[in-house]
Amino acid sequence: MARVTGAVPDWLTEARRICVLTGAGVSTDSGIPDYRGPNGMWTRDPDAEKLVTLSCYLTDPDIRRRSWLMRRDLRLADPQPNAAHAALVDLERQGRLRALVTQNIDGLHQRAGSSAGSVLEIHGTVHHVVCVACGDRTSMTSALDRIEAGEPDPRCLQCGGILKSATVYFGQELDERVVGACTAAAADCDVLLAVGTSLQVWPAAGLVEIAAASGARLVIVNAEPTPYDDLADLVVREPIGTALPRLVAPC
Ligand SMILES: [Zn+2]
Repeated sequence: MARVTGAVPDWLTEARRICVLTGAGVSTDSGIPDYRGPNGMWTRDPDAEKLVTLSCYLTDPDIRRRSWLMRRDLRLADPQPNAAHAALVDLERQGRLRALVTQNIDGLHQRAGSSAGSVLEIHGTVHHVVCVACGDRTSMTSALDRIEAGEPDPRCLQCGGILKSATVYFGQELDERVVGACTAAAADCDVLLAVGTSLQVWPAAGLVEIAAASGARLVIVNAEPTPYDDLADLVVREPIGTALPRLVAPC
């Protein structure tokens, strides 16, 4: 039975293996636009979706040029972690975090202080760049430095192949090892806490089902309804930046 929160229930305060799943809603307070929300990047400009669609990116130099400029603009904005990121750092320090699965590519969980070992980035990270031909992995900073120096479409320095951000594009497979770790965490948690995600994109939705089937409680913190609200033990519609610190506060 879904309901909007009042007091934090004891089973949540007493949970010891919380698997957190975060989506774009966690980073909007940091000034990073979401994609599919009412003011989302793709809602306002459907063409922008091409910038992160693998087939378009690989075949169209102009898409690559625009994609690099988008990465540059996002870096210039220099987004900072917010209260929601800090609350999840605190949850880890309490020893109650089983895993922090994120759909976000912004690296703000680690920047806030979440340990690299606890964060599972199912859609990759914008802080690295990979060569689609040889797999060579380098920093986004070095690629953007080349953009600034006048290369609109920098190529791999090892093999000359096309470079792209180390994020999962449309039409691209997820990293099996990351998905496996997420699945294991979802099956081994006492609470699955989904924050700022519409739970409409696989594998996020699948993780909710795995956790529920394994007997975990389900908490959903999201401004909009999700397909799993009826399955949830607690549904919170309040702003994430104020709700999350309260929900994960120690007893
Ligand atoms: Zn290469």
